[in-house]
Amino acid sequence: MTLRVAGGLSSLSPALDILRHMERPFGLVPTMGYLHEGHLALIRAAREAGCATVVTVFVNPTQFAPGEDFASYPRDEKRDFRLASHAGADLVWFPKAEVIYPAGWQTSVLPGALAKRLCGLSRPHFFGGVCSVVLRLFQIIQPQHAWFGEKDFQQLVILRRMVVDFFLPVTLHGMPTVREPDGLAMSSRNARLAPERRDLALTLWRCICRARQAYGAGRRDAATLLAELRADWPAELGLDYMEFRDPKELELQEKLGPKTRLFLAAWLDGVRLIDNSPLE
Ligand code: AMP
Repeated sequence: MTLRVAGGLSSLSPALDILRHMERPFGLVPTMGYLHEGHLALIRAAREAGCATVVTVFVNPTQFAPGEDFASYPRDEKRDFRLASHAGADLVWFPKAEVIYPAGWQTSVLPGALAKRLCGLSRPHFFGGVCSVVLRLFQIIQPQHAWFGEKDFQQLVILRRMVVDFFLPVTLHGMPTVREPDGLAMSSRNARLAPERRDLALTLWRCICRARQAYGAGRRDAATLLAELRADWPAELGLDYMEFRDPKELELQEKLGPKTRLFLAAWLDGVRLIDNSPLE
């Protein structure tokens, strides 16, 4: 049976007590909802690791800037509960903003240099909001484990850093990006793509495939490969960044190696698309 909590801490606490009787470590899967197979893979992994699995569904206002898509972010709590429950969640919590950010709340997490590149340049508020909400969820739920997707690779690196910097007693687990059959990285925002624009959205995955092919064929110079990929980038797809970086410190790479990752972000009709992949 999956517990569903829609209220605040006073209704969450007894639900967490019930989970404690399972005598298993707590595993947390934080999400913004409108669940898809990428989220469900995280829930299944937590379940398979033997955790009492807590899923949170919260569209976190502090990681959106004014004018971004907070209001239009897709939401469907009923469907989310059903999917999370089928995937093996023991508890799904749908907190309201005033529970996570009660009156008087004013203390945020300020991530450092890792948050000032890639997505952090066009969304300077973003990673501070992510770290703040994840820290708060960690404090409220006190999981021993938490699962995050490599689809948001920079987020995962920054959260790993936060766990080290704050001595948080939680182990983070990264899961590979789950893709549609055609290669498009699954994302709740894909629901907002017009069907006829989907092919354009696939440009990110096509770039990744080309980069991996080129690496496999022996190419090692980042600059020339980037120039080729950028030359074929369609004008209708607003490129935010296309960069080769290492997976630990997210430093720019001039010479490509097997663990080098290609990071991509773009806007299509107001929908933000991101993707990344190692070259091997
Ligand atoms: P979101 O609801 O988009 O904030 O994502 C919640 C969690 O699911 C984050 O850890 C994401 O990295 C992860 N996630 C989102 N999309 C995917 C995907 N396609 N594959 C794997 N994990 C994903």
